[in-house]
Amino acid sequence: MDANSKAKPRILIVDDVPVNCRLLLESLKGEYRIDIATSGEQALMMVVDNPPDLILLDIMMPRMDGYQVCERLKQDNSAQEIPIIFLTAKNSKEDEAKGFEWGVVDYISKPFYIPVVKARIKTHLEQKRRCDLLNRLASIDALTGIPNRRHFTDVFEVEWRRAIRGGSSMSVMLVDVDYFKQYNDTYGHSAGDECLKRIARSLQVSLNRPGDCAARIGGEEFAILLPETDALGAAMLAERIRSGIEGLRIPHEGSARFEVVTVSAGVATTTPNDNTERSTLLNAADEMLYQAKEKGRNQVLGREL
Ligand code: GH3
Ligand code: MG
Ligand code: MG
Repeated sequence: MDANSKAKPRILIVDDVPVNCRLLLESLKGEYRIDIATSGEQALMMVVDNPPDLILLDIMMPRMDGYQVCERLKQDNSAQEIPIIFLTAKNSKEDEAKGFEWGVVDYISKPFYIPVVKARIKTHLEQKRRCDLLNRLASIDALTGIPNRRHFTDVFEVEWRRAIRGGSSMSVMLVDVDYFKQYNDTYGHSAGDECLKRIARSLQVSLNRPGDCAARIGGEEFAILLPETDALGAAMLAERIRSGIEGLRIPHEGSARFEVVTVSAGVATTTPNDNTERSTLLNAADEMLYQAKEKGRNQVLGREL
């Protein structure tokens, strides 16, 4: 593998006739990394193992044809966003119209003219790149750079279903900065923003597992999702987070009770099943947070459902 190959987009060519693949391979290998599958089944396995950035898909293949491959890919959460171009000998207008009904981004009839194939590939890859970038930006909180509420909601849904399938517990933690209005009143709004950034960073370094997700879900409110975490584990982590933020020792002269910036947190844990409402977990964490505030702030309270 040469030094540039990492940056090259990856294209999967699917065609049961090897000679068809060869011409494409020769024309595209300078600009792209090329994988070749000679059957629909092989293509599906290769997409799972090593998802390409774009797929060139033949329609007429024995056993599993291009339409079936397309249908399977569109059902798969992680593969459905990969742009597919049908590249096929079926060249009537009716075939082309039918092809688009499968949700492909383009349809190219054989015999094809390589410069046009290249131009279309380039256009669709660029489109995909922009779309990916927008999606990433739409899940990130602009101030702190950590995930936002939208992303948290998406991840919550995925983990909730995973917990039901696996019969495992999950916990959620809501964190709210104490006396933050006074912090802004004392030090100004931009100092308040800086403080929120430091808190966000502290949350992230407190998390160890790749599945854990900390997000900013409101002004001075954060949520942390802890998949496969029981009440004891969540309580320990919540305390580490609370003391981590206190340990930043950010001066807070406006605080009614403490000298430094502190947070309160509510934690809730459940082992969900098909009859559990998603909102019960978040509501319970919210209730615990409210009680932590009532009891004097700078503390963590938890509950198991
Ligand atoms: P409590 O201890 O009960 O949580 O009191 P609090 O003052 O933190 O809570 P309250 O909800 O009354 O006020 C939250 C304040 O957070 C209001 C607003 O000034 C501040 N805030 C919310 N979002 C931002 C933000 O993006 N930047 C800054 N600097 N401040 C924010
Ligand atoms: Mg608040
Ligand atoms: Mg607050």
